[in-house]
Amino acid sequence: MAYDTNNIFAKIVRGEIPAVKVYEDAQTLAFMDVMPQSDGHTLIIPKLAQAENFFDIDAASLTSVILTTQKIAKAVDAAFRPDGIRIIQFNRPAAGQTVFHIHFHVVPCYDGVELKSHARGMTDKAVLAEHAERIKARL
Ligand code: 5GP
Repeated sequence: MAYDTNNIFAKIVRGEIPAVKVYEDAQTLAFMDVMPQSDGHTLIIPKLAQAENFFDIDAASLTSVILTTQKIAKAVDAAFRPDGIRIIQFNRPAAGQTVFHIHFHVVPCYDGVELKSHARGMTDKAVLAEHAERIKARL
């Protein structure tokens, strides 16, 4: 499957559709998942690589995106104090991938709180913006 330059995350990188951003540098972008599985669920993507998944991303982009993922995970950990954090990355539909621009999920886990379903149920933008501010304050 060829990389689709009109996928939703490519549009976010180009500023064609909005996102509640948490962090950005020359290579990477982090923003709130619009259908979070838990409070603080954040996505991290490469900005330059036209890569669908873990298999076609170049080494430099992979390096920068994983380093940003660690940076964001630490900030989410400090901001939300979850009991645990999952770092998730899906490859191809059979594995649960729904957006075909490689991304890493930072998903906080809270004891006794079940994670919401993957990619279902939008959260209010104001709530996401408040969560983003909390993460940004810990960067
Ligand atoms: P995947 O299943 O591909 O690993 O995850 C895609 C993620 O992107 C899902 O968790 C879904 O909630 C999220 N998502 C889908 N569309 C949008 C969007 O337009 N904006 C944001 N911020 N997240 C999205």
